[in-house]
Amino acid sequence: MLPATPDAVRLEQIRSGLAAVRGRVVSACASAGRDPDEITLIVVTKTYPSSDVRALVGLGVRDVGENRDQDAAPKARECRDLDLRWHFIGQLQTNKCRSVVTYADLVHSVDRLSLVTALAKAAAAVDRRLDCLIQVSLDGAPGRGGALPKDLAGLARAVGEHPSLRLRGVMAVAPLGVPPLEAFAPLPDLLGEVRETCPDADVLSAGMSADLEAAVARGATHLRVGSAVLGSRPPLR
Ligand SMILES: *Cc1c(COP(=O)(O)O)cnc(C)c1O
Repeated sequence: MLPATPDAVRLEQIRSGLAAVRGRVVSACASAGRDPDEITLIVVTKTYPSSDVRALVGLGVRDVGENRDQDAAPKARECRDLDLRWHFIGQLQTNKCRSVVTYADLVHSVDRLSLVTALAKAAAAVDRRLDCLIQVSLDGAPGRGGALPKDLAGLARAVGEHPSLRLRGVMAVAPLGVPPLEAFAPLPDLLGEVRETCPDADVLSAGMSADLEAAVARGATHLRVGSAVLGSRPPLR
């Protein structure tokens, strides 16, 4: 037998990581009495090359997530021939909006008025109606992104004023040091608040490698999973 090539080894790693995560999603849905078809698994490909994105597509993945425009823009370009949905999940600076609107299908991290304005202008300039989520900070800690829950309704109305944006729901990251099942508990009500201004908003983006079960239990529709599929990243990205 020939020795396995590096590509074959990598493909096998990705295949087994993805199978394990899909299994976790199915079990979490069974425990929560939910249908796995309600869940979109976004594989977070940040720090990994476009060859991994291609491998994922071969394994049936259609949704990928990135958190830095500098990495995401060239990767999306290299993968233009693939039928993918790109999720922008990182903190977004207003000066990156013009780039992000060229490839992102859903921006998860809208968290302030200045970003709403910049994103709306950039989307209008390329004739798009851009889907977006409002990121909510569940602990109010500064620096990790996310609007305070008290500002959510106002931001939702602001997004609604722009024809180039379409508000689809809410995104959150579990705060450090709080059990995720507890931290995610307010999410259904927060989505409910958005639905008061935007009745068809139906996306709840929560849950990563470490806490996807808690997110499924609290109604997440979109999971953002990186390391459990692709391996642990080098720190500080
Ligand atoms: C990196 C990242 C993820 C994925 O995290 P993992 O722990 O690797 O699953 C999810 N959401 C956001 C916002 C991220 O930046």
